[in-house]
Formats: sequence, structure tokens, C-alpha cells
Amino acid sequence: MKFNTKVIHAGQHPDAGTGAIMTPIFQTSTYVQESPGKHKGYAYARGKNPTRQALEQCIASLENTQYGLCFSSGMGAIDAVIKLLKPGEEVITGSDLYGGTYRMFTKVFAPMGIRFHFIDLSDASAIAAHINAQTRLIWIETPTNPTMQIVDIAACAELARKHELILGVDNTFASPYLQNPSDLGADIVMHSVTKYLGGHSDVVMGALCTNDTNLYERLAFIHNSCGATPGPMDSFLVLRGIKTLHLRMQRHCENGERIARYLRQHAAIEKVYWPGFEDHPNHDIACKQMRGFGGMISIVLKNADMEKTFRIASSFHVFSLAESLGGVESLVNHPATMTHASIPAEERIRAGVVDNMLRLSVGVEDIDDLLADLEQALGIY
Ligand SMILES: *Cc1c(COP(=O)(O)O)cnc(C)c1O
Repeated sequence: MKFNTKVIHAGQHPDAGTGAIMTPIFQTSTYVQESPGKHKGYAYARGKNPTRQALEQCIASLENTQYGLCFSSGMGAIDAVIKLLKPGEEVITGSDLYGGTYRMFTKVFAPMGIRFHFIDLSDASAIAAHINAQTRLIWIETPTNPTMQIVDIAACAELARKHELILGVDNTFASPYLQNPSDLGADIVMHSVTKYLGGHSDVVMGALCTNDTNLYERLAFIHNSCGATPGPMDSFLVLRGIKTLHLRMQRHCENGERIARYLRQHAAIEKVYWPGFEDHPNHDIACKQMRGFGGMISIVLKNADMEKTFRIASSFHVFSLAESLGGVESLVNHPATMTHASIPAEERIRAGVVDNMLRLSVGVEDIDDLLADLEQALGIY
């Protein structure tokens, strides 16, 4: 099946008992057994729930992997990946990670004895210098957040293979519509389902996908043992959201491109971060590994201090000032004080997340209304 059909059908079958075309919400914690241990494959809902199972199969199918696991949040999914490691083992990862991931790595897992190397991954060959006998995992995000750097997934996969490391890719920003890391050699693909997959800003959820049976079994064991599993209602909402993923992403990309090009010529803007620009430092890699450039754009305002940046961030009428991304509605975010507030100021600024930066998650509204809203908000300058 092609992608646009899989979003609607993968993992889903009419209900055997009733013919209901939509996967029912199996709102149950346990399942009746015929005799002890003899059941229909379902014993307790932390381990398995049919609604969640349909979603897991759907997301795995979109990522071209055999296995999928859904978690109660994106952080819950990453937490499970790091639990594959033992104290003393090491992770190589990017220096401009999602703020929550950085916080979990440095504040939760580093004190437990796992060592993290945060490096600039815009040149993947930089990884090699940090590999040693303790290295187990390379963890990357691409495009990165919020400076939209592109990391060469295939180059990372080659290094991982050569040194027998696990390569995990946080594919949240691209979504499976734009990029499939497993096709490029990634071992684990992670999503904050909260974002484009859910698509409607009404669910928090995470997912992991893999083709590796051994990794899947270890992750499934952690999933069930540690228990960050989502409920059936949320699974149903995401199954429904995914049915329009291809349509939404197409419009996110179209609107994103129009807005990126508009902002770039605007007098109030110093810099626009968007991987679709021909002169983006990793544009060629973006073209090689992505099928489009998405609707995530970061801008740096010209000559704006924190106060002026706040004033502009608060003067939108169609864009809403909020954290998160990937929903149908357009959002504006001030990374320095919102999504990236947990990163120490010095490191944040070194990563390019300056006080006069705003990040846009371009939604699927009418492009004329979005452009007019930007024009009026930047006009208060
Ligand atoms: C939101 C996000 C996460 C965390 O996911 P939650 O669902 O909020 O727990 C991880 N990585 C990226 C890139 C994100 O945008």
C-alpha cells in the first residue's frame, strides 16, 4: 500500500463482532479468561489493548517498520530507549536537542551514570571522534529544534553500523510523511505523537518503531514493565488524526514555504531558519532524505530585545502563542522562555536560541490570513 492509503487503513480492520468500520475504543483494563492463562491474546491492558495495537501497527506501517510501540508521551518513549543502557555506557547526541530530552538526559539519566556527549551533528563525521568502547547509542533529531539544522541520517547509520551502535532518530519534526529514518538505516524511530501524527493538539503521546526483533522485544519489555502506556481513548483520537496526515502535511508544507519566503524578504527579520532555502547549509541533505520541508520555521527579529520580542509574540490574532507544534492551528513560540527554558542560557545562546528568536508552527489555515497576521504583528515594530 502507498502512504496515502496506509494513513487511512494500516492496522485497522472492521470490528469482527459488529462490522464497525472504525476501530472501537476498548475501554477496559482487563480481559476475561476461560481458564487461568487461557485467553484471546489479551490479559491486562498495560500489556496489550486492541485500540492501541491498531495504532501501533498503523504508525509502524507509516515508518516502514515491522514493529511499533505507543507510549503515554514522547518523553516516555525516549525514556524507554535510554533504559536499554546500563550505567557507565555512553550516548552521542546533538547539541540542540528538544529541551525536554536535554533535561531528561542531563537531570535524570546522567546522575544514574549514563554519559552523554552533546555535539554539533551538522557534520555527521564529528561523531566518530566521540565513539569509544562504552558508546551504545547515537540519538539524533532532524530537522533540529528550533534552528532547523539537518542531520545526515544515512551517514549516522553507516557509523552506527560500523561500530555496532544503536541509531535512534526523533522524527517528530518531519513526520513519516516527509522522512522515514528506518529506510536510511536507523534502528529506532521515535515520535512525539502529540505533534503532527495526532495533528489536532488534543492528545499527548509518543511512539517507537523498529525493524529489529531483538530491540523490539527489549523495548516492549520496558514498555510493559515501566508502564508508560497510553489509554484507548487517546489511541482512538490519534488513529482518527492520522487519517488526514497526508492532507495536513501537504498544506503545512505549502503554507510553510510561502511564509518562509515572505519572512525572508521582510525588513523586520534578521534571519529565517527553514531547510527548504537553497542556501541552507544542509539543503542538499534535506533534499536527499526528506520529501518536503514542512511547516516549522524559526525567525530572528532584527534589533529586538526581549521586551520587543515579547510584544510581537503577543500581538498575533490567527497564530496562537503556545508551546508545541504540528497541529492544524498555527502557533508562535518564544523558545528562550518557553520550549527551551530548561536549557542554561549560555548553552542556549551558543546553540543559536537567542532572546529575539520566535518559532512558528505553520498550520493549515488559509495562507492569506496567515500572511496578513504576520504582516500586522511585525508591523507593530
Ligand atoms: C514534543 C517533543 C518531544 C516530547 O514529546 P511529548 O509528547 O511532549 O512528551 C520530543 N521530541 C521532540 C522533537 C518534540 O517536539
